[in-house]
Amino acid sequence: MRICISCRKTYDRKNLLKITKDHKQSIMFQEGMGRSAYICKSKKCYLDPKIKKKLQKALKTFLEPEFIDIFEQEIARYNDYPNKGI
Ligand SMILES: [Zn+2]
Repeated sequence: MRICISCRKTYDRKNLLKITKDHKQSIMFQEGMGRSAYICKSKKCYLDPKIKKKLQKALKTFLEPEFIDIFEQEIARYNDYPNKGI
């Protein structure tokens, strides 16, 4: 069980998008080793205008402006998952 950084609710790992600040590479989605943050499938959470700030705080890193584009792509892919949920 992991906590969504936006709504602070607890979810099963499979219902969350994992964002990791990898030790070697930069930010990775659903993989990588390092400090991680999780976001649930609720629109309210991933469309949160403060999500970047919350992620920066959780990952203790600076996120490039391009991050949000990649994030949106990942979110779109992630919503195609069979277990759509919420
Ligand atoms: Zn949430």
